[in-house]
Parts: sequence; structure tokens; C-alpha cells
Amino acid sequence: MSFPPVNELPRPPLQRLHLDWLERAGVEVAVLRLDLIDPLISGNKWFKLVEHLNAAGEAGAEGVITLGGAWSNHLHAVAAAGKRFGFPTVGLLRGHPQDTATVADLQAFGMRLHWLGYGGYRARHAPGFWLPWREHYPHLYPVPEGGGGVLGARGCGQLLALAAGQLSALGWSDHDGWWLACGTGTTLAGLVLAEAGRHPLYGVLAVPEDHGVMQQVEGILAQGGQPNVGFELFDGSRGGFAKVDPALQAFIDRTEHAAGVPLEPLYTAKALLMLKQQVEAGRFARGSRLIFVHTGGLQGRRGFPAISQG
Ligand SMILES: *Cc1c(COP(=O)(O)O)cnc(C)c1O
Repeated sequence: MSFPPVNELPRPPLQRLHLDWLERAGVEVAVLRLDLIDPLISGNKWFKLVEHLNAAGEAGAEGVITLGGAWSNHLHAVAAAGKRFGFPTVGLLRGHPQDTATVADLQAFGMRLHWLGYGGYRARHAPGFWLPWREHYPHLYPVPEGGGGVLGARGCGQLLALAAGQLSALGWSDHDGWWLACGTGTTLAGLVLAEAGRHPLYGVLAVPEDHGVMQQVEGILAQGGQPNVGFELFDGSRGGFAKVDPALQAFIDRTEHAAGVPLEPLYTAKALLMLKQQVEAGRFARGSRLIFVHTGGLQGRRGFPAISQG
């Protein structure tokens, strides 16, 4: 079986976001709805994957092998892409066998799973980690965790044109920057590269500051031949990755009710709540216009029963 080239990029709609705290501050926000691009291959993970899949095809691979956790949006997107386009996928999972809704989907999509334990997963950056897996699956192309790296960033750079083409339909001639959640920072780095200084990027960290996001962004920008400027990072992790507090939960329910935009608690809700705090602190002048990238990930909401499942 040959690997399919991925040429068709999905087209996320850009929609105005109407919320009382934005209106009070006179700040306009449009949401680039990556959560709506596909029922299964959701969010920024689709854009992060595209160039990796093309590279796999060029390398003559038959499928891909990659890694993630038991609620991973990345594994979910890879497995769904494999099912859709007809290539085999293997997932290396963090921890011990668990029956999450995500894992059930991975299996239904036909992904072959190997559970590495926690220590085994921590060794994923060690030299030689991939060797036995490459020997075991010589026809599969390894995709880094989360679809990261320079290839992942390049795919995300496509978002710039997809949003720019929709600005005039909103009556916007220009905008004042991008606001989005960061896990590894790959999506942000791809947009910084594509912008080349034209509009600033504001990234909200979903992981605590010591997780090396700045270094990863720097690394991608250096490989892309660009200086380490044009973006700003905020710590929005609220006590840690996957930590959900009642104020965050209430914010998710309120936003969905008021604006009809569903958020998940790990990334998009923390990013939008940080925007609210910055807007209320007067960070953006009246008349400012921002693009908020809804990075998707709603499948992971199933792990948080306290949030209305819509
Ligand atoms: C993976 C993910 C992110 C983080 O993307 P990075 O490119 O790693 O920064 C943000 N939001 C959602 C919903 C995600 O699934």
C-alpha cells in the first residue's frame, strides 16, 4: 500500500466572538475554528500532521508510529487519519493500560497500541529509544510527540493564509495579533515564522514555565532562520497541565452558553481565560482586533465529566 499525499487542507471558519467582557473593553476577537474542520481529525493536530505525513510518503513509508498519553489529541488525530486515508498506525502510550474514551477510539480506528509504562515513556528523548521500534516496524515513519518540530510548525504556518482570506468578510482590513494556547509551542512557532514580524503572536502556556516551551520555540525559529522575536508567552497553566479549578469550569460553561463556542479545559479554555484577564487589565487598547485560534481538542473533554458535555 502506498502512502497518500496530503494536499487538501481543511478550511477553518473565522467567526466573530461576542462576549460581554470583550464588548466592555472595546476589543474585537475573531475565532479561527479549528475545532470545526473535521469530525475526527480535529484542531491544530491536523495542521501539525500534514507535513509529517507528506514526509512519510516521500520516505516511502507505509504508515506512521508515534506517541502520546491516554487522552492525547495527537494520537487521536493520527489514528483517525490512518483510518480515513488507509494507512497503518502504531501508538506508543504513556503509562499502563487504561480504558479511556480516547483509547477506545484509537482501537476503533485500528491503531496498534503499546503501553510503555511511565519510566519507559520518560525515556522517549534518550538516544536509542527509537531503535527497537524502528526494527520492529521498519515500514513505519516515526512522527515526534504531538506532531512537533519544524515540519509540524510549517503545516501550522498555513493557518495565516486561511485566516487572512477571511478578514474582509468580517469587515476587518487588518488585525493586531494572534492569541492561542501552547503545549509544545509548535503551532505558535509556525505562525511566528509565517508572519515574519508582521503581526505579534501571544501564546498562553498550558504547561508550567519550566517545561521548555521557550527553548522549543527558539529551536524551531532558529531552524527556520528567524530571530527569536515577534511573540510573547503567558503562563496560563493555573497550577499545572490538566489541573482544572472551579473558576475555569464555570468560565467554560459561561462561554459556551453566551457565545456558542465549546472549549476544553486543558488548552483553549485556559488560553481564553488568560485573554480575559489581560483584556480586563487594559493590555489592549479600545479598537484592538485579535484572532483567537481555537486549537480544537474537544474529544479530550470526555475526561472531564464535571464540564457540560453539550
Ligand atoms: C496539542 C494542542 C495544543 C498545543 O499545540 P502546540 O503546537 O503543541 O503548542 C493546543 N490546543 C489543543 C487543543 C491541543 O490539542
